[in-house]
Amino acid sequence: MCGTHDNITVAYETYSAELIAAGLLIPSGVPSVYGYSGVFENVIERFDALVTRAGAELKPEVMRFTPLLTRENYLRTDHLETFPNLMGSVHSFLGSEKELPELIRKRQQNEVWANDLGPTAVMLTPAVCYPLYPTASGTTLPTQGRLVDLRGFVFRHEPSPDPARLQMFRMHEFVRLGTPDQALDHRNYWLKKGEELLQSVGLDVKPVVANDPFFGRGGRVMAATQREQHLKYELIVPVATAEKPTAVASSNYHMDHFGHSFDIKSADGNVAHSACVGFGLERIALALFKTHGFDTTRWPSSVRQVMSL
Ligand code: AMP
Ligand code: ZN
Repeated sequence: MCGTHDNITVAYETYSAELIAAGLLIPSGVPSVYGYSGVFENVIERFDALVTRAGAELKPEVMRFTPLLTRENYLRTDHLETFPNLMGSVHSFLGSEKELPELIRKRQQNEVWANDLGPTAVMLTPAVCYPLYPTASGTTLPTQGRLVDLRGFVFRHEPSPDPARLQMFRMHEFVRLGTPDQALDHRNYWLKKGEELLQSVGLDVKPVVANDPFFGRGGRVMAATQREQHLKYELIVPVATAEKPTAVASSNYHMDHFGHSFDIKSADGNVAHSACVGFGLERIALALFKTHGFDTTRWPSSVRQVMSL
């Protein structure tokens, strides 16, 4: 067990070092926060455009939000109860001029100064669908429900040696709000479509039943229920190592979880159900570089063609 863990950590460190040496990742000084080269960004943008095209035939509404979620809307979810360890809260100095010298003194003497900050009105968004639900709050959906295309940066506090486990990363999601059937159909449609899309760029992904990393003992019960009910699937593929494949996309049926929290009704008057599919863009780029090599000009011509590289 311990030996396996060591092998995996070594694989993470090796792949990170290779990506940094090739200039694809630009280290920041803290784990799981990187800058990206033009080549890396181009791969993200091309794949992202492919996702947009794949969804366009369904004529989704397109919405873009910043990586900030209001504290009030954050608290309408149960993120604080279920993922407290992953949250990101934006704090600033809220004191008066009179209190500033004390903050500066603490900083200069290397004392803890962050306790002198206070919470602002915003949190960092933990998933790109979170800012959508408050905008639908108090509404009744049309008969056909709603389909929304979302993309943006999200934050999760999970520093790790794994170059594919980032603290801030981009997700491209399609979210369906509607009846239970509409939500479940969406989840199943994208599980298949996502698999085809990723296979079209040479990633040999495999669907697996998955669960979210809910916090603590109560969280383990929630995770077990989520698995038993097959609410979440992930598409996995080797990135740093084949020993522990990485989820590059997920398809998730939330049942009436968000409909309840945000008072969203389907056309029949029942609490709306929702489902979303999320493509992890940095992870997909990292999987592509692992599979096809660091020189995109030498990637298989079929892949270059599909991605318009
Ligand atoms: P989730 O909301 O956890 O289902 O995540 C959606 C997708 O985002 C996953 O399928 C991954 O591709 C990606 N993802 C999740 N967590 C991370 C992370 N820490 N770093 C990079 N990508 C991630
Ligand atoms: Zn989502």
